[in-house]
Amino acid sequence: MQNCVYEFGDSIYINLTNACSNSCDFCIRNFKEGVGGSELWLERDPSAAEVEDELGRYDLSRYDGAVFCGFGEPTCAFDVLLEVAGWLKERGVKTRVNTNGQANLINGITDAAARMAPVIDSVSVSLNASTAEKYDAMCHSVYGEEGYRAMLDFVEDCVHEGIDTTVSVVDLIGEKEVEACGRIAERLGANYRVRPAIGEDSDY
Ligand code: SF4
Repeated sequence: MQNCVYEFGDSIYINLTNACSNSCDFCIRNFKEGVGGSELWLERDPSAAEVEDELGRYDLSRYDGAVFCGFGEPTCAFDVLLEVAGWLKERGVKTRVNTNGQANLINGITDAAARMAPVIDSVSVSLNASTAEKYDAMCHSVYGEEGYRAMLDFVEDCVHEGIDTTVSVVDLIGEKEVEACGRIAERLGANYRVRPAIGEDSDY
């Protein structure tokens, strides 16, 4: 069975897809095959039933929560994400999504945050840069600089929907950029986190 579910730290992690709308310079996929001893490249995207079947093999009460994370962008498998998150909520499991924030563009919708709110407790959105130009130079979104603006809108929507929302940057961007991004996080009403670009707690 491919690694769509794995343990990492105190949480259970769910890997839904290899697909991503970005191609970030710092993406761990450029350097490693997986995280914490789990190889994460998928042969194909799993169905919701397959993920739930795999989750059923774990004692979910042992974990702090479930995290939808890489190797790819979880909202590239948006319907599966929502279905599995609902399945977890029915079992009292806290849910988090680590995302590039481009769900609306990826899925051709405008209400991704509203659809997530009933089943997702928290989101961690990769802010990465203080301007669209800097973001695109680093993350190379298929949507160009629009990817950055859509990400900011998504963060605002998540805050508005009452989802516990954190934006993050990697620690490679320099002190001034870290400060500028912190001001953006404050303006958006989101929590702020500076994360290691590559490492066991980089969340990928
Ligand atoms: S958004 Fe995440 S998964 Fe996608 S390329 Fe960037 S770091 Fe990798």
